[in-house]
Amino acid sequence: MLDAVRLRNARNFSGGPGALPETILQQLHESMLCVPEVGMSVLGISHRSEWFAAVVAEAQRNVRTLLGLPDGYHVLFLQGGATQQFFTFPMAFSRPDGPSPEYLHTGYWSGKALAAAASRHRIEVAWSGKDAGFKVLPRARDLTLSPEAPYFHYISNETVDGVQFQETMGRDDVPRLCDMSSDFLSRPCEAQRYDLIYAHAQKNLGPAGVTIVVIREALMDKVPPGHLPEFMDYRTHAAAHSIYNTPPVFAIYAVMLATRWLRDDVGGLDKMDAINRRKAELLYAAVDGSDGFYRGRADAAYRSIMNVVFNMATPELEKQFLQASAQAGFSGLNGHRSVGGMRASLYNGVTIEAVEALVQFMHDFRKRHCV
Ligand SMILES: *Cc1c(COP(=O)(O)O)cnc(C)c1O
Repeated sequence: MLDAVRLRNARNFSGGPGALPETILQQLHESMLCVPEVGMSVLGISHRSEWFAAVVAEAQRNVRTLLGLPDGYHVLFLQGGATQQFFTFPMAFSRPDGPSPEYLHTGYWSGKALAAAASRHRIEVAWSGKDAGFKVLPRARDLTLSPEAPYFHYISNETVDGVQFQETMGRDDVPRLCDMSSDFLSRPCEAQRYDLIYAHAQKNLGPAGVTIVVIREALMDKVPPGHLPEFMDYRTHAAAHSIYNTPPVFAIYAVMLATRWLRDDVGGLDKMDAINRRKAELLYAAVDGSDGFYRGRADAAYRSIMNVVFNMATPELEKQFLQASAQAGFSGLNGHRSVGGMRASLYNGVTIEAVEALVQFMHDFRKRHCV
């Protein structure tokens, strides 16, 4: 029974919540009954305990170490997901009578982010990939961005469309805000060039319920006092070390374990990046080498290391693929409900062996269906 569960967990390619490394699942499993240092279940430990303060402190430190974050930043653990951030930072940083913030529209999630901001303020869409079906991305050198904008926002990896930036976008003289929900801590990023990075945990780093916010103090302090309700103000959570009210203790504990794993077991973000690239190479090679049986969705120059999105000749064949893959123990391979097709998400917790098994399955499936 346990072997079957381990196989299913190992073959989980879900777009989110995503797969977690087995060693972390094991530690979380044990912590349900008893956290060794405390002698009781993680679910019943007070968020005001010394133990939990130490968990938050280590999770923060690990994020700082992994990113090589300089002084002048806060690392916060907030609730409400990435979606809450879509609404919060426009309220914090743009003014109805001031210049418009600029957004890149590169796929499904950046569309959600800009719609959230536009529901209250004027915004400027500096570039849109909509007409190109979100299969391509702009290059930094091709964009003309305003020096007046209160901030510039983009999404580093479009989880649904399978396109990912390989360079830092935006201007260094305008606050740079980025949703890294689906590739945070999967590779190095130039953290010191960002003013606000946010990422929920449930793609690469843990269960749903916590969102990591890395914010430059100077940006936080641009908000006039009293401009936002106290709970919405990033300063409130910075001052309370993310324990203003009851935080999601379990989810933050998981993020602490995941960042410790990245630091100690994986050996940092360069190493994680190399592993993630290897996984993507294997899978894209299987897609590209299939004589059109599998068809990559995104333009090859822009495709994502995290989310490999592909189609087949007919929806009927795709359905057969999904059924057969489920029978073989794979899960989460269906594309996002907005685009259909297939998507294999290669988050940190997915092993090279799992990708090799998927590549083998795809090869066998193709042989069975090509006459
Ligand atoms: C999944 C995803 C979201 C949605 O996040 P919630 O935590 O569900 O609000 C936002 N942005 C990106 C890039 C995502 O991949």
